[in-house]
Amino acid sequence: MLPAERQQQILKWLEKEKTVTVSELSKRLDVSEMTIYRDIKPLIDQNKILKTSRGISFIQTSPILSQNCTYCYKDANTRHSVQLIKIDQTIEHNCCPHCGLLRYSDIEDQVSQIICKDFLSGTTISAKIAYYLIGADFHMNCCKPQAIVFESYKQIEQFQKGFGGSIFTFEEAISELKRRMKNPHSDHCSS
Ligand SMILES: [Zn+2]
Ligand SMILES: [Zn+2]
Repeated sequence: MLPAERQQQILKWLEKEKTVTVSELSKRLDVSEMTIYRDIKPLIDQNKILKTSRGISFIQTSPILSQNCTYCYKDANTRHSVQLIKIDQTIEHNCCPHCGLLRYSDIEDQVSQIICKDFLSGTTISAKIAYYLIGADFHMNCCKPQAIVFESYKQIEQFQKGFGGSIFTFEEAISELKRRMKNPHSDHCSS
């Protein structure tokens, strides 16, 4: 077998098994461990695989098929994008918290984590512990009704003083968005 063929074979195994040890590879391919190290070196350099304490692992280069929002199909490469990490390890991108929350409520049982960005700092946070401002007089130029994400309750209160709207927790924000989707005019009545 040529080194290139062994590399292809190693990648195939890793894709299926995620982690394989070097000694296991040397047995399966019937070559020395030295040869395996030589074979995998270029793969490590190309960031295709990762050396770990348990052997070598496959790097999931991009399980994402597209960078479009899975809810509204707009480009999801925005500064307030939301990521849904699913149980099957794939990642869905949403353009904004509006789409992220509504998509989450559609596929809740397939999602292991939902991640969004704090509106002010851009820090990545778990969407489930964030606060949401809905109905504020501030335009994010994305989907409506919009929800603005904050990590800190103090900051969301300050922002609310300036721009209005109501504060919701994760679960509450989902029901509020759904309610406003059914009844679009309620967006203009601040509570
Ligand atoms: Zn969207
Ligand atoms: Zn959007």
